Amino acid sequence: MPSADLVVVGAGLSGHTAALAAAESGARVQVLAKGHAGTHWGTGGFDIAGLPGSATSRDGLRRLAATRGHPYAILSDDLEPALEWLRTRLAAEGLTYEGDLDTPLARVPTSIGGTRLAAILPAAQAAAVRPWEPGERLVVCGIAGFKDFWPDAIAASLSRPRVWGGVAGPSRVDAVTVELPGLAARHNLSALELARRLDDPAWRADAVGRIAAALERSGAATGRVALPAILGLDDHAAVLEEFRRRLPLEPFELPLVPPSIPGMRLYYALRAALIRAGGRIQIGEAIAHVDRDADRVIAVASEAAARTTTVRTGSMVLATGGIAGGGLVADHGGHLEEVVLDLPVEAPEFADWLAPDAFDPAGHPLEGAGIRTDADLRPVDQSGKPVFENVRVAGSLLAGQRYLRERCRDGVAIASGWRAARTMTAVAVAEPSAVTAGPGGGEARSVLR
Ligand SMILES: Cc1cc2nc3c(=O)[nH]c(=O)nc-3n(C[C@H](O)[C@H](O)[C@H](O)COP(=O)(O)OP(=O)(O)OC[C@H]3O[C@@H](n4cnc5c(N)ncnc54)[C@H](O)[C@@H]3O)c2cc1C
Repeated sequence: MPSADLVVVGAGLSGHTAALAAAESGARVQVLAKGHAGTHWGTGGFDIAGLPGSATSRDGLRRLAATRGHPYAILSDDLEPALEWLRTRLAAEGLTYEGDLDTPLARVPTSIGGTRLAAILPAAQAAAVRPWEPGERLVVCGIAGFKDFWPDAIAASLSRPRVWGGVAGPSRVDAVTVELPGLAARHNLSALELARRLDDPAWRADAVGRIAAALERSGAATGRVALPAILGLDDHAAVLEEFRRRLPLEPFELPLVPPSIPGMRLYYALRAALIRAGGRIQIGEAIAHVDRDADRVIAVASEAAARTTTVRTGSMVLATGGIAGGGLVADHGGHLEEVVLDLPVEAPEFADWLAPDAFDPAGHPLEGAGIRTDADLRPVDQSGKPVFENVRVAGSLLAGQRYLRERCRDGVAIASGWRAARTMTAVAVAEPSAVTAGPGGGEARSVLR
C-alpha cells in the first residue's frame, strides 16, 4: 500500500500551494483530486481583496482581516510572504506575474466588454492595468472563425465611458478581425486549438505577421491591442515575447469562457513545480472513504476508473473548494454536507439560503458557508474544539468569505495553503504516528520516515 507524509485532497490553487510548500520542506506528498479545479475556470490572475472602495489589495486585505470570522482574520500575515514565495516558483516554471499588494486596483476589460477590478495579473494581461493616457487608443483584435470572442461587440461596449466606472478609459476603441493561416474555412475554432497552434513557431510567425498587418491597417499608431487569451500554452513565454516584439501596439490578453488558457497555464506551472519538488499528483480520484484512528486521519481511499487506491498518510490537507469546487454538497432537506470527512459545516439556516435579490451587493447568503477552523487551520466543532488533530483546511472550503463581492479567494487559497503546509509539516515531522487498521484495511505501521 502506498504511503505519504501528507495527502492533499484537491488540485486547485490552495491544494497545489499546500502540496508544493510541504514537498519543498521534505515531506512525501500525494495530491488526489476528482477533477480539475477553479484554475480552469478563472482568469489566471490572483484576486486578493478586490473589495469595492479599496484602492489596493493591501487596503482590501486590511478591511477583510478586521471582519469577524473572515479567513483573513487569521491569515493576513501569511499572505504577502506566501504570494512572493509562490510567484518565484511560478516564474521558475516560465509563468511570471506583475503587480503586488500595493498596485492600485484598476478596471481591466473583460471579454464580454465589461471591466473588473484587478491588480496582480500574469504578464500577458498586465498591460491592461496601467492607466489610459489621454488620447491613447485600444484595438480589440478577434480571430475569424473563433466562436468565443466577438471583437465588434466588445469594442462597442468598451466605447461607453460608464463601463470604466468613473476612471478614464481609452480615447477610442476599434475592432479588427484577422484570418489566420489555414483556418479560412473554419467556423468553430476553440481557444485551446488556437493556443496550441501558436505554440508552433512556424505557424506563429505567419499568424503574428497577419495580426501586425491588420493593426497597421487600423490606423492606430500607438496604444494597446486586446487579444483573446490564446497566446500559447506550452510555449507561452516565447509566444508572448514574439507578439510584444512584432506588433505595433502593446498586446494584452482578455481571459475567456472556460476552459481558461491562462488558468491552464497556471495549473501546469503549479503541477510542474510540485513534481519538481518531489510531490505526486493524481487527477480523476474522488475520495471514496477515509480511515481514522481517534482524532487522526490514517489512510485515504480514492476511486479511480477501475480500482480503489488506498494511501496511508500521516496528515491531510482538505482543499476541496466550497460549493463551487464540490467540497460542499447540499441535500433537498437544506443540509450542507462536507463530502470527505463529514466535518461540521457553518451555513445559514435553510430559510435564508436564497437572497430576495440575486444581485444583492452584500453577496449571496450561502457564499460564506464552509468549515470553521482554529488558527492552525484545524477544523473545529461548534464549541471551537479541533475535530481532527492532523487535518488542515485550505482555500474556498474555509467559512466566512464572500468571494463574489470580496474577490478574495485566490489570496485566501494561497495564504491558507501555505499556512496549512507549514503547520502540517511541523506535525508530520514531529509526531510520527502509528497506523491501525480501519474500514479500508491495513495493518499497524508508521507512515512517516
Ligand atoms: C466559475 C468560478 C468563478 C470564480 N471566480 C472567482 C473570482 O472572480 N474571484 C475570486 O476570487 N475567486 C473566484 N473563484 C474561486 C477561485 O477560482 C478558486 O475557488 C480559488 O482559487 C480557490 O480554489 P481552491 O483550491 O480552494 O478550490 P477549487 O479550485 O474549487 O478546487 C477544488 C478541488 O477539489 C477537488 N475535489 C472536490 N471534491 C472532491 C472529492 N470528493 N474528492 C476528491 N477531490 C475533490 C476538485 O476536483 C478540485 O480539484 C471562482 C471559481 C469558480 C469555480
